[in-house]
Amino acid sequence: MSIRAKKIWRNGRLVDWEDATVHISSHAISYGTSWFEGIRCYKTRRGPEVFRLREHVERLFDSCKIYRTEIPFSQEEIEQAILDTISGNGFEACYIRPLVLRGVGTLDLSPQGAQVETFVFAWEWGDFLGAEAKELGVDVCTSSWARVAPNTIPALSKAAGNYLSSALIKMEAVQGGYAEGIALDSKGVVSEGSGENLFLVRDEVVYTPEVTQAILPGITRSAVIELTRDLGIEVAERAIPREMLYLADELFFTGTAAEVTPVRSVDKIPTKCAGRGPITTRIQKAFFEITEGRQDDRFGWMTPIGARQRA
Ligand code: PMP
Repeated sequence: MSIRAKKIWRNGRLVDWEDATVHISSHAISYGTSWFEGIRCYKTRRGPEVFRLREHVERLFDSCKIYRTEIPFSQEEIEQAILDTISGNGFEACYIRPLVLRGVGTLDLSPQGAQVETFVFAWEWGDFLGAEAKELGVDVCTSSWARVAPNTIPALSKAAGNYLSSALIKMEAVQGGYAEGIALDSKGVVSEGSGENLFLVRDEVVYTPEVTQAILPGITRSAVIELTRDLGIEVAERAIPREMLYLADELFFTGTAAEVTPVRSVDKIPTKCAGRGPITTRIQKAFFEITEGRQDDRFGWMTPIGARQRA
């Protein structure tokens, strides 16, 4: 996978890839003060379409608001910047990374005196957890690292600094021979993967941790909750004790990168289905039918990249 592209949107205009640089004295480099999104653009029969553009841009603004950081563009302008970045690179399907950072101006711990810089870059990215993962599922472990505790670093902000936790979880898992790690929250109940939300199926009911359990409120998660209810399957957001992972009929991850990926074992204990279970299969099918444009966009989730382009 190459993250190289032709153009990057930087503070209001598309520049060459090489020119999208930041200064070493940027506040973000020392202190992790940047906020970002991960968005997917799918190739559909109608042309390239972005999944839940408005919701992602809204979460970016929310992430910054928690840190008293005002983005010097409107939500509509950032949406347009995302569409322009995709078309400016000629991508049909890609992963898009809008990123706001505190740049030069101060190295005080308060970033208030540091410039706000806004970027959008994109690259062509396929299957995150491996091509076979969506069919066969992945083997994961529970992490020895807990997610952030309440009232420490806010989990609801998708800040770069939060991903130090993700790096520890992912490195430990991969070192141990697993595809991913599931972290518990500071109280010891199930939280999420290093970059995915988690769903558990037992006795035909689908469960997922609540937003108070140190999760990022995933945009795929909310789509999957809606899709699952639409399929007539019960969904509950609630605390999941660790040992429920070992008693699950089915488990799956959701996320922009992971999409809907089954989990087949946790700590070497297989789920009852020991792979992709029937409910996961139905949800996954419904998800890809919409994102890949094989079904009508009945939830209004897809934005064609030509939708709002300037003349
Ligand atoms: N949790 C974490 C920590 C993540 O980084 C992500 C990916 N953004 C998710 C969950 C899934 O969120 P989404 O569905 O919005 O991509």
